[in-house]
Amino acid sequence: MNIEWNWLKKRAQLHPTKAAVIEGETGEQWNYQELYHLTRSTAVMLKQKGISRGDRVALLAPNGTAYLALLFACRELAAIFVPLNWRLSPIELQGLVDDSRPSRLFFDPTFEKLAEKLEGVPVETIDLKKWKGTYATGKREQLFSSLEERTASSGWFTVSGPGSSLDTPWLMIYTGGTTGQPKGAVLTYRSVFTNSINTVLTWGLSENDITITILPMFHTGGINALTIPVLHAGGTVVLYRQFEPDTIAKGILTYRCTIILMVPTMYRSFIETEEFQMGEFPHMNVFLSGGAPCPVSIYDAFSAKSLPFKEGYGLTEAGPNNFVISPEVAERKRGSVGKPMLFNEITVRNEAGNEVLPGEIGELVIYGDHLFDHYWQRSDETEKAVQGGGLLTGDLAYQDEDGDYYILGRKKEMLITGGENVYPLEVENVLAAYPNLLETAVVGIPDEQWGERVVAVVAVQKRIRRDPNWEGELKSQLKAFCREKLAGYKIPKEIYIFDVLPKTHVGKIDKKSIVDKIMQKKQ
Ligand code: ATP
Repeated sequence: MNIEWNWLKKRAQLHPTKAAVIEGETGEQWNYQELYHLTRSTAVMLKQKGISRGDRVALLAPNGTAYLALLFACRELAAIFVPLNWRLSPIELQGLVDDSRPSRLFFDPTFEKLAEKLEGVPVETIDLKKWKGTYATGKREQLFSSLEERTASSGWFTVSGPGSSLDTPWLMIYTGGTTGQPKGAVLTYRSVFTNSINTVLTWGLSENDITITILPMFHTGGINALTIPVLHAGGTVVLYRQFEPDTIAKGILTYRCTIILMVPTMYRSFIETEEFQMGEFPHMNVFLSGGAPCPVSIYDAFSAKSLPFKEGYGLTEAGPNNFVISPEVAERKRGSVGKPMLFNEITVRNEAGNEVLPGEIGELVIYGDHLFDHYWQRSDETEKAVQGGGLLTGDLAYQDEDGDYYILGRKKEMLITGGENVYPLEVENVLAAYPNLLETAVVGIPDEQWGERVVAVVAVQKRIRRDPNWEGELKSQLKAFCREKLAGYKIPKEIYIFDVLPKTHVGKIDKKSIVDKIMQKKQ
């Protein structure tokens, strides 16, 4: 018997009126009972539309309760939920639709125009307000008695579900494509559930936790990192549609938030808000940064306000959560993501595939039931990524003598100049310590003599742009600054100044597009 999906019913029985989900901008709430009923009626709705085992159900929507309704409903039907990145162009989105071939695509009314451009898929708006209206006007009993009848007679909705197991594909998340074409990472219930239980236990989440979800829910950071674990734990999830630093800072106070995950670029503007400057977030247990290396300046800002901060490492194909560290250790060991969680195993391997000693750099390999199952229709890519049961993350890391891990960035981004390895993060950390730089990135550019050349790109605060020669001066000062702290071959040979660095859909610095821009400038 598959009993694991029934947790929501049990949460609804345990504390029916407790807020499960709040839509941050409007304050619209869904208690556990409402969320459970919403899920069931969504499952019935999908069933009536002919959705069945293995079918893909896509969603194009800003963060909102519709994600959870469809996700949990898909579980009941053994269908696969495919949340799509609404920031993509119509052509890019069409590519994902052609790849995943969903039986139905639901869209939030905001994306009507975009959805209607898509071909080869029936599209339909999803309007939960209408559902709530039915619920609130007392038609609920009618709705659910007919639902029970229909489901009982059809036999598809039984306690054990429609014959799905822990290994049934459930959620397909397209990776960002910073390392190539977006790939659909297929997660089973086992993957999501293991990550969630691991997170609840290792990070110590409870029903007292309240999180704000501001990372997009079509991304692992918005759905799997905290949203599902906090719901499993019986806490409350506050969903925001749009990142606006002041609104988020106020939201943390209004909703008495205890934990939040944001990417470093979000923290950069968050630490400028009035609320952050006041330094009073009485309910916050921890501010978590993930998805990309966190600059030291952000650690400094939190430290100056005595606010708990730490960094996590994760990826779509593994959880995403993998490490645990306390804010106290994080403050002492800046840049460390800590130790592996309870229910995963992590090793660092050299090129020959052997485990390296503490202090030595190698590729991070992750084992555990939280790993994804496969890439959608790309068995060759799956075989490359998973070897001997371990996920080759493509990220370089090392552990210190205490067993705490440090991530050095993507293997592909490590550059080799004149035969010497340069880890961009090391150079970026030095640059980030230079005053008034907003953002920094270090990339490798092909070079006939050196193989690759170290190139830095920085964005600066407007106030340092007064002097007519400021650009030239800044570049030579930056080189001098690096010369004091880095070996000669690591010093950027060229420095470019951008107004703002290009970002991926989750707000990570997009190095592929930086390299493209530099190459274009050179032509
Ligand atoms: P793709 O993998 O297709 O390029 P993506 O970046 O959107 O797309 P994610 O699964 O969101 O895919 O990101 C995972 C990657 O983010 C990791 O492999 C790692 O390179 C990076 N990352 C995550 N957390 C950290 C961290 N704390 N420090 C450094 N890098 C991190």
